[in-house]
Amino acid sequence: SRIPRIVILGAGYGGIVTALRLQKELNYNEADVTLVNKHDYHYITTHLHMPAAGTDDPQNARVSILKLIDEFKIDFVKSTVVQIRPNDKKVILEDGTLSYDYLVIGLGGEPETFGIPGLKEHAHFIRSINSVRLIREHIEYQFARFKKEPHRKDYLTFVVGGAGFTGIEFIGELADRIPKLCKEFDVDPNHVKIYNVEAAPTALPGFDPELVQYAMEVLQKKGVTFKIGIALKECTPDSITLADGEEIKTQTVIWTGGVRGNRLVEEAGFEAMRGRIKVDEYLRIPGHEDVYVIGDCSIVMNEEGRPYPPTAQMAIQQADVLAHNLVASIRNSSLKTFKYESKGTVASLGKNEAIGIAMGRKLKGGSAAMMKKIIDLRYLYIIGGIPLVLRKGYFN
Ligand code: FAD
Repeated sequence: SRIPRIVILGAGYGGIVTALRLQKELNYNEADVTLVNKHDYHYITTHLHMPAAGTDDPQNARVSILKLIDEFKIDFVKSTVVQIRPNDKKVILEDGTLSYDYLVIGLGGEPETFGIPGLKEHAHFIRSINSVRLIREHIEYQFARFKKEPHRKDYLTFVVGGAGFTGIEFIGELADRIPKLCKEFDVDPNHVKIYNVEAAPTALPGFDPELVQYAMEVLQKKGVTFKIGIALKECTPDSITLADGEEIKTQTVIWTGGVRGNRLVEEAGFEAMRGRIKVDEYLRIPGHEDVYVIGDCSIVMNEEGRPYPPTAQMAIQQADVLAHNLVASIRNSSLKTFKYESKGTVASLGKNEAIGIAMGRKLKGGSAAMMKKIIDLRYLYIIGGIPLVLRKGYFN
């Protein structure tokens, strides 16, 4: 009989770990595995806040996919997916078509702007190597502009929308970078303003309040002004307006206030909530048992029936079960059910500062920053073993 074809869409956390697990588990000629990704590199999304602020090189946040996979076992296709056709069991790429017996959707998230006028058009988003390069250049450019037009204080006003994980981590890096930029461009640091706007009643909603307090104090000391419990209402090319009527003149808005799943899953006709699909206990789409969904495109419910937040940690844990289930389907053996186990969370606040919960303990400051490094290194180890840890490990 014909060899089953497995197609994996996206080489993010979910897709790449699934591919690596399949590469290990499958025997020769047991399945044809194809991995499709827009770029020929995998980016370490959880590290993107650093190159975005300019505190690290974008190069350190990506790894060539061909360095991770074994090309004798997995076909890598560098292309953009434009349509998923579950009824024909086909995926349409910008430059071709793939047929599958089993599909894995790991296309990741997209920014959610909740229809706030102007945000989609004028804000920046931390989502890929290309987008963070743009943010970094844009910030530097504002300093250069200010030197030519020193009355334009708006050039040096930076607004970050959203005080979730991504927003807080980015702000921590940005606050570290500002003094260096001021030196480089001979700018008085007092001219620089950093605002963090969050609609929820607290920064880092869901996090331990004592740690949130600590995080805010660290960032305030670095010059950040918080606008918490106030929604962003509108964004124009040179200002934002808040729900309380305040207008802030700025040329730079970085929006981190929401993520949704990929539009392609909605367009495929699957039942989705903001681009995310509620998967069954085996990580398949109910009614489409040949299609698995992983990472930011999937929804997994917790015990209280509420969706877990989409994280890299979730995607990596799903990949283990997903790969097992694909192999089991091919071998007609039994599937495993997925259960999420939180290993804790750490948010960095810039150099040597972080907060987090790990192994049931609250961490702050240097010990939390150390834990963050361990988590980063552990991931590099999972995907690339010791050689990748040595090549990319952030030892500075
Ligand atoms: P992704 O990792 O986003 O990968 C999707 C892949 O699909 C990408 O390679 C993309 O290029 C590709 N793709 C997309 N569309 C197409 C297409 N049409 N055709 C072909 N390829 C396509 N989570 C944590 O657990 N801990 C953290 O500390 C943490 N920090 C974060 C910090 C930042 C700055 C950000 C932005 C996120 C952070 N997250 C963190 C969240 C985490 O990064 C995501 O949950 C995770 O990346 C989701 O993995 P994924 O596999 O679903 O998608």
